[in-house]
Amino acid sequence: MTFAPRFKRILLKLSGEVLMGEGGGLSIDPAVTARVAEEIADVKAQGYELCIVVGGGNIFRGISGAARGMERATGDYMGMLATVMNALAVQNALEQIGVETRVQSAIPMASVCEPFIRRRAERHLEKGRVVIFAAGVGSPFFTTDSGAALRAAEMKCDALFKGTSVDGVYDADPKKVPTATRYATVSYSKVLSDDLKVMDASAIALCRDNNIPIVVFNIREHGNFAAVLNGDGISTVVQN
Ligand code: UDP
Repeated sequence: MTFAPRFKRILLKLSGEVLMGEGGGLSIDPAVTARVAEEIADVKAQGYELCIVVGGGNIFRGISGAARGMERATGDYMGMLATVMNALAVQNALEQIGVETRVQSAIPMASVCEPFIRRRAERHLEKGRVVIFAAGVGSPFFTTDSGAALRAAEMKCDALFKGTSVDGVYDADPKKVPTATRYATVSYSKVLSDDLKVMDASAIALCRDNNIPIVVFNIREHGNFAAVLNGDGISTVVQN
């Protein structure tokens, strides 16, 4: 299935883990981040308008802090700050290879990046810049998956691409079940009813309500992002 004629503007959700060093070394590995930036630059060069939402799980998650006795909301704010660090790392890697970017944060941080302003983000896209959205939705008890679905809807993106380190959605954990098979396509309702690990339920519901397909693919595999867009790559598409 080629997406080229269907999709003009896409939102890429990057989990924090895709910026990590192999074997869980550095939480932000500049070499790994540079490779991810190359994949993004390839797709940008093909004329797509690109929004990016970055996660923060490679640095901090509120839920992990809460499990160790921290107040959940405080942990979540720390997690959102982690996403801003990742956004700056991705911005740096993209600009080093000549891709113009702007970072917008849902939590205003005037000295570091722009605040999220939808119309300004729109203008950046018109000017050919990649817009990187940080700090999720800006509130605790949410995730950056929800932030990605929200920004995809607000920015009228044609699809949400979830770049991870697995090549799609399986009917069982492929690390534990050797016969696990990858779905080529799967419906939003099956993802929700079978609790398939794609994104959290509120993000799936928001995409379903706004008819935004979710494409899950491995962004760490060289050339795969561009290949998936052109119909040759490996992915799972979640749609109606
Ligand atoms: N977070 C939040 N509200 C948001 C987005 C993120 O509170 O709108 C916090 C939450 O603690 C989350 C952390 O930031 O665990 C990092 O984001 P996430 O876990 O979504 O990152 P990813 O798994 O994509 O790396």
